[in-house]
Amino acid sequence: VRSQLARIVTTSVNAASRRLGRGAGTVAGGRAGLAVDPHLLEHLSARRDVALVSGTNGKTTTTRLLTVALGADGASVVSNETGSNMPPGLVAALAADRGAARAVLEVDEIYVPRVLAATGAGTVVLLNLSRDQLDRTNEVRMVAGRWRAALAAAPHTTVVANADDPLVVWGAGAAASVRWVGAGLRWRLDAVGCPSCDGRIAFGADRGWGCASGCGLCRPELTAWLEGDAEGADGVWADGRRLEISLLLPGRFNHANALMAAVAAECHGVAAEEALAAMAPVAEVAGRFTTRDIGGVPARLMLAKNPAGWSELLDLVGRGDGALVVSINARTADGTDPSWLWDVPFESLGRRAVVVATGDRCRDLSVRLQYGGVAHAVEPDPVRAVTAAATAGAGGGGGGSDGHVVEVIGNYTAFHDLLAARA
Ligand SMILES: [Zn+2]
Repeated sequence: VRSQLARIVTTSVNAASRRLGRGAGTVAGGRAGLAVDPHLLEHLSARRDVALVSGTNGKTTTTRLLTVALGADGASVVSNETGSNMPPGLVAALAADRGAARAVLEVDEIYVPRVLAATGAGTVVLLNLSRDQLDRTNEVRMVAGRWRAALAAAPHTTVVANADDPLVVWGAGAAASVRWVGAGLRWRLDAVGCPSCDGRIAFGADRGWGCASGCGLCRPELTAWLEGDAEGADGVWADGRRLEISLLLPGRFNHANALMAAVAAECHGVAAEEALAAMAPVAEVAGRFTTRDIGGVPARLMLAKNPAGWSELLDLVGRGDGALVVSINARTADGTDPSWLWDVPFESLGRRAVVVATGDRCRDLSVRLQYGGVAHAVEPDPVRAVTAAATAGAGGGGGGSDGHVVEVIGNYTAFHDLLAARA
């Protein structure tokens, strides 16, 4: 009775919140429901086939890809698509769809133990761990340690883990069943210390790695791995299968996310071929990678929240020479300490003709770009920054009002400001 009441409270508060125009209300409703029944997440997960997705980067996209993959055989799938990835958001998503047989839940890294215990998830997908929101996030090795303890206590869960991230390998290493995926890891600066013995991790050629201090931690034997480059990639399975990964979503990191999702889909009885075919037409995830009209200019919006995410996106845009806008805020949802800018390899933009720095912290960004040798303009207003980039790009042949798309990378609130600014 308590659980039923809690579910009704959750959906009613959410409906009221939507009517009052206060957003989807997922967090408010979930909080109210959990206050009535602290075990609501457990009750709402019972008798469902549950998969969890966590990691510092790519969890929203991978959750979306796995959701469509697990629907490929006609099953109904519920997911926390709004990105509210702590227990109130999960409860709200599950309460809104009681009938779905499967659930794919994006989970904040630090909540993995609690959510795993409550849901008894059949699969946990672990993507990567790196520094993020310096003023409030937990130290990555501590997070890996918590994953390790939680997974050791979940003997019926299969983990799908990135074998190229030593922190993830250690975090998943105590699980009863792991499918290791060679998904790659561009950002290694948070993985140089061995989480097992405090020694040093040595990275070799051919993506091999191991603890140089001899504790034995090393890249495990793979179930599947990614081959190819940003132009095209295949998933290769140790059993000899090779499947092309063809996506509308751009970038190496999205090929990696899709491969992780395909291996996870197999754990739920969906064939990898079917899973990848279902993922192919996904063109945007919560506004990421969409081309929108910003101040009359077509702009492709991309989101990066931390140095690892920025490394991937700078690599992606580095192939073009169109106008680029970089937008940085340092509000609560971004983390209020922007010193991570110094960890981002902005030097790679050195040859780019048109770069415009914008956002609340455009001046911090400008100093960073200056030290990186990147010629740039500063325009505090994001919409004016996009139009200025288009104008400059048209003059220099770099894109914008001549019909080319201006590329825009922002951190969390900077990205959402631009998403809201359209039209
Ligand atoms: Zn070691």
